[in-house]
Amino acid sequence: MIKVNKLSKKFDDLSVLKDINFEVNKGEIVVIIGPSGTGKSTLLRCLNYLETPTSGIVEIGGVAVDAQKHTNKQVTQLRQQSSFVFQNYSLFANKTAIQNVSESLITVWKTPRNEALQTAKSILINVGLEDKLDFYPSQLSGGQQQRVGIARAMAAKGEVILFDEPTSALDPEWVEEVLAVMQQLAIEKQTMIVVTHEMQFAREVADRVIFMEGGYIVEQGSPEQIFEHPEHERTKAFVKRAL
Ligand code: ADP
Ligand code: MG
Repeated sequence: MIKVNKLSKKFDDLSVLKDINFEVNKGEIVVIIGPSGTGKSTLLRCLNYLETPTSGIVEIGGVAVDAQKHTNKQVTQLRQQSSFVFQNYSLFANKTAIQNVSESLITVWKTPRNEALQTAKSILINVGLEDKLDFYPSQLSGGQQQRVGIARAMAAKGEVILFDEPTSALDPEWVEEVLAVMQQLAIEKQTMIVVTHEMQFAREVADRVIFMEGGYIVEQGSPEQIFEHPEHERTKAFVKRAL
């Protein structure tokens, strides 16, 4: 359902992604690990054109966009295939939880307001926030804000949810409840690409683990392959340090 072909990204002279190729099947949970500064966030951002790649093709849900020749319409269509969960939640501070979650339904999908609010409510109930519907982000804990962030991504109806270190900014006490929501999504076979340092989550939940370093995919495989039997020295060294 997702195909990334010969993707590269440069910031001026700095080559951050170099010849990235991978595919993700519908319902698959892919976890990306690797040292910081390696291009993981840039890769996720290129998948929905928050950053424009320098070259290569990104295809999601039948919408293919070539970095070197594309239209704005194609980019808009590609963006609708995915939704993002950010490290710092990026909620609208002046909107309540239910308004944050229903926003894309109303503006992007033109869902009638009442219906959008009903859908948003049921998603917020799903992530355990039935008693916080009308709370503003500043009135919520970090864990609750991030669950609103995930609910918002679920409401956006994309094919895939992209998570960029969704628990890194959280106080330790809130990490588990956010991982639990992600685990529930995995059980429901929501396609996900997750950049994380939570190795336990990667081992338990991922169908596939991608190890990135220096702008390359060094190695990918099942959690068992990557964590128990890594082939490359660099993967071995990273995994040893991370576990
Ligand atoms: P990771 O998420 O693996 O930590 P990033 O994708 O954030 O890595 O960053 C990879 C490299 O790209 C880093 O050297 C970073 O400084 C650089 N970089 C990221 N975004 C930009 C940008 N907008 N402009 C210039 N350099 C950037
Ligand atoms: Mg990052």
